[in-house]
Amino acid sequence: MVGYNPLKVAKSVESRVYLESGGVSRRKYFRFRIDRWYGGIVTGDVVGCNMRCKFCWAWYFTWGDTGKGRFYTADEVVGILGNLSERSGYRRARLSGGEPTIGFKHMLEVLSLTVSRGLHFVLETNGILIGHNKDMAEELGEFSGRGIEVRVSVKGTSPEEFHELTGADPRFWFVQLDSLRNLVEAGLEPAREVYPAVMLSLSGEEGLRRFSSIVRGIHRELSELIDEEYIILYRHVKELMKRTGLRPRYVILPDKIPDELI
Ligand code: SF4
Repeated sequence: MVGYNPLKVAKSVESRVYLESGGVSRRKYFRFRIDRWYGGIVTGDVVGCNMRCKFCWAWYFTWGDTGKGRFYTADEVVGILGNLSERSGYRRARLSGGEPTIGFKHMLEVLSLTVSRGLHFVLETNGILIGHNKDMAEELGEFSGRGIEVRVSVKGTSPEEFHELTGADPRFWFVQLDSLRNLVEAGLEPAREVYPAVMLSLSGEEGLRRFSSIVRGIHRELSELIDEEYIILYRHVKELMKRTGLRPRYVILPDKIPDELI
């Protein structure tokens, strides 16, 4: 079973979505929005990802056309998120869309400025870069107790599922798990400041039981908060699955998203 190497993809994508000049970092974003997840959160959606998930809801920007979007400095990003927070009353902010750890310096600047404004910061990541690079986890660990939350979205409950869902080299499933280990070792509190999400569209409840016991082996408390993910059948996601040939067993219809997932 072969597949692409997400570390190599990260390098090539970074050169297109991240800039650094005169000590100022800039990352490409495709939009900013107020959203209902997490009980209400303001969100910056970055362009570019190092994975090619066959169900990605943002695939057009994450692994499609990285030429879209606009470069923003961390100051500009946090200014926009701050305005959206004032408008909505929501005190949580996140980076989502693609993979925010690409252009890590920029992400850290956004994190630092966000928590300095008293907002809670949610980092949604596939964990590949953090699992591969302990230094990144340690830098994130510095924010323990200051309003950080890292949600590592693990693609499937086994290396085989990972490969089927993403087309990547199955060995990188373990690197995703390494990110949880690195973040806990760096001092983030399991279940409160770092926790896994897992894509269960191939294996459902049975996969969840297996996954729960695996993450318990990393840290007992990691199994206390596992976000269950299922493919949401938006029209553009169906289009992607048709192209990539992914055939999930369990899906959610867009108008039937259960409240507990929001
Ligand atoms: S890791 Fe997330 S953003 Fe990247 S391709 Fe997969 S679902 Fe899309």
